[in-house]
Amino acid sequence: MSAQGTPQEIGQISFGLMDPEEYREMSATKVITADTYDDDGFPIDMGLMDPWLGVIDPGLECKTCGKHSGSCNGHFGHIELAAPVIHVGFAKLIRRLLRGTCRECSRLTPVDGRRTADAEQAAEERKRHYREELRRATELSNDPSDVLKSAIRECRKVDYCPYCGAKQFDIKHEKPTTYYEIIEVPHSNLSKRLERAMDPEEGEAVTPDDVAGELDDAGFDAGRIRELLSGTYRPDRNDIERLKNLSRALGRLNDLETVDEDLSSSAEYLVQEDMDKLMPSDIRDWFEEIPDEDIEAIGINPERSRPEWMVLTVLPVPPVTARPSITLDNGQRSEDDLTHKLVDIIRINQRFMENREAGAPQLIIEDLWELLQYHVTTFMDNEISGTPPARHRSGRPLKTLSQRLKGKEGRFRGSLSGKRVNFSARTVISPDPTLSLNEVGVPERVATEMTQTMNVNERNLEEARRYVANGPEGHPGANYVRRHDGRRLKVTEKNCEELAEKVEPGWEVSRHLIDGDIVIFNRQPSLHRMSIMAHEVVVMPYKTFRLNTTVCPPYNADFDGDEMNMHALQNEEARAEARVLMRVQEQMLSPKMGENIIGAIQDHISGTYLLTHENPQFNETQALDLLRATRTDELPDPDGVDDDGRAFWTGRTLFSELLPDDLDLEFTSSAGDTVVIEDGQLLSGTIDEDAVGAFGGEVVDTVAKAYSKTRARILINEVAALAMRSIMHFGFSIGIDDESIPPEAQERIDEAIDNANDRVGELIAAYEAGELEPLPGRDLSETLEMRIQQQQGRVRDTAGEVAEEYLGEDNPAVVMAQSGARGSMLNLTQMAGCIGGQYVRGERIHRGYENRTLSHFEEGDLTAEAHGFVEHSYRSGLDPKEFFFHAMGGREGLVDTAVRTSKSGYLQRRLINALSELEAQYDGTVRDTTDNVVQFEFGEDGTSPVEVSSSVDESAVDVEEIADRVVDAEFDDDEEKTRFLGGEREPLNLSEHADDWWMEAAGGD
Ligand SMILES: [Mg+2]
Ligand SMILES: [Zn+2]
Ligand SMILES: [Zn+2]
Repeated sequence: MSAQGTPQEIGQISFGLMDPEEYREMSATKVITADTYDDDGFPIDMGLMDPWLGVIDPGLECKTCGKHSGSCNGHFGHIELAAPVIHVGFAKLIRRLLRGTCRECSRLTPVDGRRTADAEQAAEERKRHYREELRRATELSNDPSDVLKSAIRECRKVDYCPYCGAKQFDIKHEKPTTYYEIIEVPHSNLSKRLERAMDPEEGEAVTPDDVAGELDDAGFDAGRIRELLSGTYRPDRNDIERLKNLSRALGRLNDLETVDEDLSSSAEYLVQEDMDKLMPSDIRDWFEEIPDEDIEAIGINPERSRPEWMVLTVLPVPPVTARPSITLDNGQRSEDDLTHKLVDIIRINQRFMENREAGAPQLIIEDLWELLQYHVTTFMDNEISGTPPARHRSGRPLKTLSQRLKGKEGRFRGSLSGKRVNFSARTVISPDPTLSLNEVGVPERVATEMTQTMNVNERNLEEARRYVANGPEGHPGANYVRRHDGRRLKVTEKNCEELAEKVEPGWEVSRHLIDGDIVIFNRQPSLHRMSIMAHEVVVMPYKTFRLNTTVCPPYNADFDGDEMNMHALQNEEARAEARVLMRVQEQMLSPKMGENIIGAIQDHISGTYLLTHENPQFNETQALDLLRATRTDELPDPDGVDDDGRAFWTGRTLFSELLPDDLDLEFTSSAGDTVVIEDGQLLSGTIDEDAVGAFGGEVVDTVAKAYSKTRARILINEVAALAMRSIMHFGFSIGIDDESIPPEAQERIDEAIDNANDRVGELIAAYEAGELEPLPGRDLSETLEMRIQQQQGRVRDTAGEVAEEYLGEDNPAVVMAQSGARGSMLNLTQMAGCIGGQYVRGERIHRGYENRTLSHFEEGDLTAEAHGFVEHSYRSGLDPKEFFFHAMGGREGLVDTAVRTSKSGYLQRRLINALSELEAQYDGTVRDTTDNVVQFEFGEDGTSPVEVSSSVDESAVDVEEIADRVVDAEFDDDEEKTRFLGGEREPLNLSEHADDWWMEAAGGD
């Protein structure tokens, strides 16, 4: 491709079909030989690797353009097909056109020729209507193919052509590329019956001439009748009517009193439906006759695409560069799948021609034709349902044209919209609570591979030399240098010392990643903004990326084998943008919820709960240990003195050390008590999920919004550190015994179950006796179902209450459930008390055998037990029936998630593709790539969801609070402030003000 010929702007792209003549014109050579290379390894002339088609071997010259491999893009060739074949890609359109046009004159048939007086004129009128619809569709940017579809639907209904009056038949399409016409033919035993009628056992025989005479002008001549008798008759369409006349005529002939009853009485027995296969050549002939104006009326541009071009007579052969062969280690060549397919096509094409010339029987010709069609079809698409895919000898299906383009690995999604990138790394992640949430631990092996470009100057000269001297293996070293003249030199263990001496200002050094570098970190599926954030590097030993556990929620990461990607940034602009916009702390507030998405999770929460719930006391050593990983290096005043006279500090006091000094806050905790924070001191309440948790922990959220992201980052880091020391101080574990309840508790649960079973029994009895009162809008069986579910729910509630009562406040599982660290009271109920009813699609389990769920129950058994109620707890264990029901209920959840993720993934893809060109501009508007304004203000209100309150009872923007803050910041003392606020403003006439502004802007006097 020449540079000066590259278009600067694309005006429009039109799609259409290719004229076979066009294929021949653009072809560099005709391909007739199915072979590729001769014994000496040279491409065979007019073979599939002909040098006219381009070159892939270095050293050879392209015969068409004279260039060498690498600069020659390759050239198309062509194969002359021995017989036309259907292009699979157009199978549907071919079907539509066959159905919509006349089988005799090929014209579009929008009205019925028998039913309308002036059919031709009415047809023209309909076509004008289609054109109008097309114009409207284009104007409204609707899909013009909808017009085509509805037009064809109309044309298909027609029985007689409005132009030539020919009878029309329906078209049957057998996928992928076979078409039949469903026609009426003389019944298979017609000739025999006719013979019998003409030569009855009693009476005189009549000759065909007699019959023809009787029929006179409305029927057959004697020749046709002889054909009928001999069975060689092929009906002409109008003959069907004549055939019916014939039966009546035979009946009228006096000699034929004993005529075959069927033949004389009912014309229906004369004909039968038959499928007449349309060969591609028939279709081509049919389509050739369709007038340009007719296809134009249904939205096909006849200048670009003639319908007969959908039936191929010439097959273009892609250039060799599009299907390069690879040379294996043993010198053998391995050809591309497309080449293999082309070999098949040429072979069959050859055989077809030979057989036809030799005058082979029609059956053989048809078989070969079908085979040729199969090879051409699979050459274009090898994943057609109902067609066995073409396979390699190994059994692997061939990857042909459509497979190269389609799907995730295809050309569009795999090679054009997404590509592999340099300076990226991927490995397993693991947790490291000692890192800041802004940091990422990078393995040394990754750090020595990913480099940053250093522009050497006087100030960093020594540093740069040090990196180079360390070589590519020592960390922190360098991998490449670039000299003044632009030459790039690889730093090796051998030359590094020497090269380091030579480094001077103006050079570029590609140094290893070091602590503090900024990189981008990502976990798939990247569904929201926080899936890609910038972290600061901390180079570490071993092979995993290390993260602080507080950033797990935004990435939705855990450490069960999750892998993440890292990208090293390659210029200052990118690094600056990443640091300012993408750093983890800047992403702390989620745009989805308007609350913090980063915060304490799991053990952090248990830790702060243990520290603050009962406000325990600590001696000096313990207090210092708890705060050792925070900035606090001096303990606050002690809260008091214990019995031994030693000073002590309470948990809440220690926690308060992490809070900003002037923080005032009051809210209800997850545990249910009221948290009061005044002047940065936690006075009462439990610090748990609602205070410091990810997803809207009140304290974290407030600090992030009212102080700064940096302050919030410090807070989260320190809360996590304090919580870890705290949970280690107290010790925290759960075991199976933590879920056991005493026998009397079990008895109470059993009693509740028995009660419910009794109630269910009563409900069933009432239902069966027809005495059940239906709920509004429900029928009886629905009512029963709902009432039983209600009873089962009640059992579980009771079990929950009992479990809660006996398990106690300090049970670790209860602590986790109440603090919001992990799990719920329901989980505990199911472990300790009773699992409860299992449901599929919101109903008790009904499926299984006939009228029963399992063969263990009697038919029609409606009890709770027979429909999936699990009385046992996870701890006590399920019986086999319960286990089976439980698996059924569990399966639904698994299937739901699997289905949901794939569905929502596809929706996401479409939404992203639809919105990808929209961009918020610096002037506040949202525009597409052609500068059309989509929104004058981002989101129509110009507010960012993270800067706005999301709670229902507050207004989105607290104007008063903001105004107070601004005024406070503006004035140093109260006097100044009062003067400002109290001072009266000069009245402002808006229109005059606008005038002033206008004059100034216009540069007037
Ligand atoms: Mg995982
Ligand atoms: Zn070339
Ligand atoms: Zn016609």
